[in-house]
Amino acid sequence: MGLLDGKVALIFGIANNRSIAWGITKAFADAGATIALSYAMESLERRVRPLAEEIGCDFMEECDVTDDAALDDVFKKVEERFGKIDILVHSVAFANRDDLGGRFVDISRDGFKMALDISAYSLIAMAKRAEPLMSDGGSIISLTYYAGEKVMPDYNVMAVAKASLQIMTKYLAKDLGPSKIRVNTISAGPIKTLAAAGIPGFKDLLRHFDHVAPLGEMITIEDVGNAALFLASDLSKMITGEIMHVDSGYNVLGLTATREEIQARE
Ligand code: NAP
Repeated sequence: MGLLDGKVALIFGIANNRSIAWGITKAFADAGATIALSYAMESLERRVRPLAEEIGCDFMEECDVTDDAALDDVFKKVEERFGKIDILVHSVAFANRDDLGGRFVDISRDGFKMALDISAYSLIAMAKRAEPLMSDGGSIISLTYYAGEKVMPDYNVMAVAKASLQIMTKYLAKDLGPSKIRVNTISAGPIKTLAAAGIPGFKDLLRHFDHVAPLGEMITIEDVGNAALFLASDLSKMITGEIMHVDSGYNVLGLTATREEIQARE
């Protein structure tokens, strides 16, 4: 018996085998879920198809999450094929490189709108379409980062998108609770992926992370996948509106400089 036997999971945001969405997909498939995958654009198809085949998934749909008609189409096809959704995963983010790094005050209006539309509003757009397909209740999970809570170097516009996603998680949890739909977000520690490569200071962040995080280890997509499995399953059936940190404990720290770094200044 798998934890997700009989459940259908629709997962947005798979780009390649390094994507957090792939770690989540594998964990769900191993737990018995039926998987439906959505990817951003045609050029990703050749990377996503072999991954889908690896887990025996034959539902793959292209969808730009800023396009309402494209979202309608994906949800309609899922309904036609499976009749329901039990789990929805939002693992999508994008910002112009110009709005990552540099000065926060230089974020452009257009860049702000685009980053927030793709990385945050899309969760509302997906939840609205998922609700009628979750008639037996469900679990909605998104991915956030600590930069939405505290200032981290270079995240700039993406920090605003993540803060937005985090408060949206709470409002959606309140809104969808009566339909027994739970909404949670996972705050993952830094992982080397395509999206992360767009953050100018990301390499420095990675180098620093395991030296100071309480558990002293980097985060993997498997770690995030396992946490998502818990949030997707009935094991977490009374948990909603939460920001769950999967970050080696980094978020509990007040001081993140190492003793060596501090002593080097003396
Ligand atoms: P990733 O593999 O690059 O995944 C990001 C996905 O978002 C890609 O599939 C990307 O497609 C997709 N996307 C971008 N614009 C889109 C659009 N308009 N429509 C549909 N999809 C679109 O990187 P990842 O690190 O796994 O990111 C997944 C999530 O985890 C993001 O929300 C990210 O902020 C979050 N997160 C990442 C880290 C980290 O350190 N990696 C830490 C905490 C949270 P394209 O490749 O075509 O752009």
